[in-house]
Amino acid sequence: MLRFAIQSKGRLNEESLKLLKDSGINVDDSRRKFLGQASDYPIELLYLRDDDIPEVVADGSADMGIVGFNEIAESMADVEIVRKLGFGKCRISLAVPKSVDYNGLEWFDGKSIATSYPSILEDFLSKNGISARIRKIMGSVEIAPAAGIADAIFDIVSSGGTLVSNGLKEVEKVLDSEAVLICRKDLPKDRLEIRESLLFRFDAVQESRGKKYVLMNIPTDKVSEAMFLLPSMRSPTVMPLALEGWSSLHSVVDDSSLWQTVEALKRIGAEGILILNVDKVID
Ligand code: ATP
Ligand code: MG
Repeated sequence: MLRFAIQSKGRLNEESLKLLKDSGINVDDSRRKFLGQASDYPIELLYLRDDDIPEVVADGSADMGIVGFNEIAESMADVEIVRKLGFGKCRISLAVPKSVDYNGLEWFDGKSIATSYPSILEDFLSKNGISARIRKIMGSVEIAPAAGIADAIFDIVSSGGTLVSNGLKEVEKVLDSEAVLICRKDLPKDRLEIRESLLFRFDAVQESRGKKYVLMNIPTDKVSEAMFLLPSMRSPTVMPLALEGWSSLHSVVDDSSLWQTVEALKRIGAEGILILNVDKVID
C-alpha cells in the first residue's frame, strides 16, 4: 500500500483527482474524508492543506504527493521532485501600488512587503542585496498595501486580474511554479513497484494531453505531400481504400497545430477528415 497526499480542496484538488482517475485509479473523493482508499489499486489518499504536503512526504507520513512547486521552494522540504505535471501554473512576483514610479529593485530598500512566502522572498532579497521588512500574512495578501499593512506584496500571480482589481502592478517575477509529483527520499522497497506503475500510468495520461487522432481520405498521389504536413509520432499510417486512387491516412497531431494542419490537408485534397480525442499514449 502506497500513501499519496493531495490537496483536500483548492486549486490543485480537482486536477490531482482527475490525473488519478484518468490513470484508472478510482478514489473516493468525498472531500470530507481525511484518508481515502482506492477501490482497485494499492493506494490510499491523504487529503491535506497544500502547505502540509511537502513536510508530510519528507518525513515519510505519506510516500508520494502532488503539490505546487512554490510550496516545495518555500518549505525547502527534502523530497524528490519526480515529474512536473503541467497544471497549476503560476508565478510568484513582487507587486507594488500602481501609482508607484517603480525604477528597479532598489525601490524595495527599507520598505515592508506582505507575503505568505517569506523564505523564498528572503532568499531573493538577500541575493539582490535589498533589505526590506517581510510581513508574513497567510491570506488576502493582495489587500495589504491598501489596508496600510505593507508597502508592497510578494504573491502568486496567474492572469494578474487580482492585482489589477486591488490597484497593484507586477514589477518583478521571482519564481515560476506548477504542480509537481513528489516522492519521499527513502521510499520502502515494497512500494517501488507501485511507484513505477503509477509513473507509467501518469506518463501515458500526460502524453495524451493536447493530442488528437486525425483520420482522412486522400488521393493516393497526394500521400507524400500529406505526410510532409503531418508531424506524427513515428510515421503516419497509410492504407489503400477500396476505391481506386484513394488512401486513408491516420496520424496524431498536437492541439497547438491542429487547425493549421487540417486546413493545409484540406487544401491538397483530403476529405472525410475525422478528429478524435486521444485517451492514453504508451510509448
Ligand atoms: P490550502 O487550503 O490547501 O492551504 P491555499 O489557499 O493555500 O490552499 P490554493 O489557492 O488552493 O492554496 O492554491 C494551491 C496551489 O495552486 C498554489 O500553491 C499554487 O501552486 C497553485 N496556484 C495558486 N493560485 C493559482 C492561480 N491563480 N493559477 C494557477 N495556479 C495557482
Ligand atoms: Mg495553503
